[in-house]
Amino acid sequence: MLTLPLHPIQVDADGERTCGTCLMRLPLTKFYKDGKDADGCDKYRRDCKDCYRKNRLMTRRAKRQPEPIEVKPKRRRSKK
Ligand SMILES: [Zn+2]
Repeated sequence: MLTLPLHPIQVDADGERTCGTCLMRLPLTKFYKDGKDADGCDKYRRDCKDCYRKNRLMTRRAKRQPEPIEVKPKRRRSKK
C-alpha cells in the first residue's frame, strides 16, 4: 500500500507559500520555521513574519489592558 505524504500546508514547488492570514504568496524566507515534520522537512508557521509579528503585538496589547485602579486603604497600625 502506498502512503502519500500528506502535508496540511503545502510548500509550492517554486519555494513560495500562501500566508494563512494575509493570503499573500510569499517566499519561504518570509515565514518563520516551526520545527520539522515527520519526514524531517522544515515546517513553517501558517502566518508570514509580518502577520506573526502583528499577531504577537495584538496579543501583547490585549494583555496590557489597563487594570482598574485599586485604591488600597492604608492600613492603620493598631496602637497598643
Ligand atoms: Zn501574512
